[in-house]
Amino acid sequence: MPSILIVEDEQRISAFVEKGLASAGYTPTVVADGRSALDYVSTGSFDLILLDVGLPGIDGFEVLARLRAQGETMPIIMLTARTSVDDTVAGLDGGANDYLPKPFKFDELLARVRLRLRESGQVAVAESTLDHGGISLDLKTRRVTVAGKAIDLSAREFALAEQFLRHPEQVLSREQLLSRVWGFDFDPGSNVVDVYVRYLRGKIGADRIETVRGMGYRFV
Ligand code: CA
Repeated sequence: MPSILIVEDEQRISAFVEKGLASAGYTPTVVADGRSALDYVSTGSFDLILLDVGLPGIDGFEVLARLRAQGETMPIIMLTARTSVDDTVAGLDGGANDYLPKPFKFDELLARVRLRLRESGQVAVAESTLDHGGISLDLKTRRVTVAGKAIDLSAREFALAEQFLRHPEQVLSREQLLSRVWGFDFDPGSNVVDVYVRYLRGKIGADRIETVRGMGYRFV
């Protein structure tokens, strides 16, 4: 069963998460500060980290930065008490796979944990198709189907759809989409992302891509 490191200094929350994960069949371990988190991760025995932002000593962002700098690729879900845009963007830019604002329901946490573990398991396998929620992208033939029906996407639309399918349920900022699909030298003031999201919605279904105000877009 996957081992999960819970890095959380609020005992009330860590106990709740630990108990829930254990009864869902995972092997949870709790530490309450950033230094211990780094020590525990270095043992190499964890599959995923739930990482609180506000920690004594080394905070969650710093732990995240150090782990990614060491080349640590395991999924990391940030837990933040603050629902501010800055924290979310900083977390995702810093290499977090996901974030969960407190307070959260346990089911919500569990869904994210399952999703991120499944994704990380897939990374090792050379993917030729991406499937999510009835949408399928064949990365070799560039064939796209929605609920089994073939649709046509332009090269940019395909690249944009690929980003969404690679990061389902995750907020992608305009800047992230712009740099990944159009390249860094594209004018950041451009509304090209919004325009292409509109095109894509027209082809795969308007409700599949949510606008997250002030943050970006999320594929659902
Ligand atoms: Ca905290």
